[in-house]
Amino acid sequence: MFHMSRLVRGGGLAVLNRATVTEVNVLRRGLTEQTGNASSKAFAPVITACVGAGIFYLMQRSWKPLVVNGTQTEETAPFPEIQSTHSLVAKHVTKEKWDRLSGIKTKTSGFTLAKAIACAVEFDDQHCGIYAGDWDSYKDFSDVFDPIIQEYHGISADSKHTSNMNVDDIKGNVDAEVPVKSVRIRVGRSIDGFGLSPGITKEQRLEMEGLMKSAFTKLEGDLSGTYFPLTGMEETVRQQLVDDHFLFVSGDKNLQAAGMERDWPEGRGIFHNTEKTFLVWVNEEDQLRIISMQMGSDVRGVFERLARGIKGVGDAVMEKSGKDFMLDEKYGYLHSCPTNLGTGMRASVHVDLPGWTKEGLPALKHRCEALKLQPRGTRGESGGQTGKTWDISNKHRLGYSEVELVQCMIDGVNTLWKEDKELQAKHGL
Ligand code: ADP
Ligand code: MG
Repeated sequence: MFHMSRLVRGGGLAVLNRATVTEVNVLRRGLTEQTGNASSKAFAPVITACVGAGIFYLMQRSWKPLVVNGTQTEETAPFPEIQSTHSLVAKHVTKEKWDRLSGIKTKTSGFTLAKAIACAVEFDDQHCGIYAGDWDSYKDFSDVFDPIIQEYHGISADSKHTSNMNVDDIKGNVDAEVPVKSVRIRVGRSIDGFGLSPGITKEQRLEMEGLMKSAFTKLEGDLSGTYFPLTGMEETVRQQLVDDHFLFVSGDKNLQAAGMERDWPEGRGIFHNTEKTFLVWVNEEDQLRIISMQMGSDVRGVFERLARGIKGVGDAVMEKSGKDFMLDEKYGYLHSCPTNLGTGMRASVHVDLPGWTKEGLPALKHRCEALKLQPRGTRGESGGQTGKTWDISNKHRLGYSEVELVQCMIDGVNTLWKEDKELQAKHGL
């Protein structure tokens, strides 16, 4: 009986651990035999109590592998050797959790815990080390994801995400004197019903791209543009888009190990408006990366276009398919990487910081940390640094609204520039 209720709680798909069923049946048989025997009748209450305690104990055990959406396969995989020994995965994927969760395959894309932690197992340099293959992953493997997300983002177990895309709530802008070359703000978005990049099936990826092709035709005014699939794109065109900082590239070892480059380049592409100020990446690390960017330092203007663009894409997807973006009460907009949960927003400027460059990367990193910023090279996260120009962006994604994060970036860049002038003087630049 108890396992029936568990099956109901488990979405009807959880399969009870066989050993547990057998143990309960043995106890039940024992109860029937004992109570059927007249000489044992006097002991019936004691036996019932003992059996009840036994069943309670087994229930406790069997309640543990609660599967929300997925199917539990019979066998659990051997506990892997996690190369990234200091990662959040190493800390939170214990043998006990592994034994409970490693036999689960998620419903949407057949994702497993082994696939989720592939990066941490394979490489020794991961901080986080886990990706989700679908929305189910966050639920079915919540015993692993929840503590990792809470620790990474510094949120409490009962926190809720709030979004604010209202440009009028931003105060000020990057000061005119700051040598900012360009501004770029991106968010990630995922459409409900499809797997996330690490898990998405080939068929889902193509269906998702097809949906986007038709959704893009609905964008109007300065947002209207053209979709360019990666398949069949001329090499010179592709390279130019990469050099101009518009397009993603393949070859990131983390994305590869996490299964995000399966069937490359099929189902991937880029949409952009005529001015290349509004862009959407399709099926890279996230199903969608919605991007607003332009030369100069007008962060507010870029944010305002982004807000309209996100709404335009969301409305078009809804009109074409009846599907919404994946939005979780606790974790905000869902992404394949838990570090992007919440806003999924990275607001960056390319800015010259000669003083800080002279001071050195460790010092810049340390200062940015205190300002809740993150420095990157100008060729993207895995592309490296060039000269004295840096990509400075908000560090946080979850636990703050989009407006708060953009505000933090604006204020932080103004501060870094003030300090840079002092450092230039110090180094005689
Ligand atoms: P993300 O993962 O946040 O989309 P990446 O670090 O992978 O960003 O970089 C993606 C591309 O965006 C790279 O070509 C990078 O140079 C470009 N980029 C990032 N910020 C800016 C900016 N402020 N101005 C111009 N290009 C930018
Ligand atoms: Mg990236």
